Amino acid sequence: MRNVVIIGSGPAGLTAAIYAARANLSPLLIEGWQSGGQLTTTTEVENYPGFAKGIMGPDLMKDMRAQAERFGTEFLTADVTAVALTPRPFTLTIDGEQSVQTKSLIIATGASAIQIGLKNETRLTGHGVSTCATCDGFFFKGKELIVVGGGDSAMEEATFLTKFASKVTVIHRRDKLRASKIMQDRAMKNEKISFLWNSTVEDILGNDLVTGVRVKNLVTSKVTEVPCAGVFVAIGHRPNTTLLSGQVDLDAKGYIRTTNGTATSVPGVFAAGDVQDSTYRQAVTAAGSGCMAAIDAERFLESHSHNL
Ligand code: NAP
Repeated sequence: MRNVVIIGSGPAGLTAAIYAARANLSPLLIEGWQSGGQLTTTTEVENYPGFAKGIMGPDLMKDMRAQAERFGTEFLTADVTAVALTPRPFTLTIDGEQSVQTKSLIIATGASAIQIGLKNETRLTGHGVSTCATCDGFFFKGKELIVVGGGDSAMEEATFLTKFASKVTVIHRRDKLRASKIMQDRAMKNEKISFLWNSTVEDILGNDLVTGVRVKNLVTSKVTEVPCAGVFVAIGHRPNTTLLSGQVDLDAKGYIRTTNGTATSVPGVFAAGDVQDSTYRQAVTAAGSGCMAAIDAERFLESHSHNL
């Protein structure tokens, strides 16, 4: 029987582990088969406070993991394949076999950026392909960039990227944007932004770094190559909540609803990081909410010590 189990090994999960371990709760962190979360797929992180010269995403995650381990966090490299939140204690099934029981649970399973689904997109991620303009825009000073998508995220990313890029081309699969009027207007008025309508990215070009995209016009079927130094894919995020559907309240987009800090609809279950945040989605905000979740779990355990 565990006091607290944390699912997820991104900044939210690992920060929760650091705090829970230092509170003598002997946390178990189930880190999945690919430890470290979304930051392990980025290169340099320049906006995480405390690293004046920047730090590589994978190094930051390695250090956070070591810090959690130092205070006694136990790690399990495996996937949680099922969760039962009633009755108490909570039961987690690990890789379809082993089960773990816990008095409290912190869900920090994150979100995944939706990808176009191209082989070269995966290969060149971190080498010109990105899903986060806030994280990577700075590296493209004076360069020509592509943004894929027609929603608010795409407009926001395109507008943000004009701070650095010489030109941003938005490639959208229809002839109308999905984005809100205000975001559309802002992007349309920006002289650095142009649009390729009714078009899809068929391939991303480049050996070690992105050099361009192959674009298909869906009306004429004509295929052209557009040179660029970076491709920002902004076609939405999916919270990793499949495991929890029907067990904790989710919002219309599938994110876990939290109130009073990190509490979910099930007492004793807390959520931190991108799995409950569709707005900020930053490493530092995830880490902050991981800290909150550990404190919330500690207080829950204290106040329910007689009936858990
Ligand atoms: P979204 O609204 O779902 O838009 C996704 C866009 O990507 C759509 O234009 C869609 O095309 C396109 N798309 C989807 N799959 C694609 C594919 N496989 N290939 C090419 N294009 C594809 O997602 P979002 O822009 O990330 O926004 C998510 C939510 O967050 C929205 O509610 C949005 O309002 C909100 N948000 C708000 C702000 C803000 O207010 N500051 C900023 C960002 C996001 P179609 O249009 O053809 O479907």
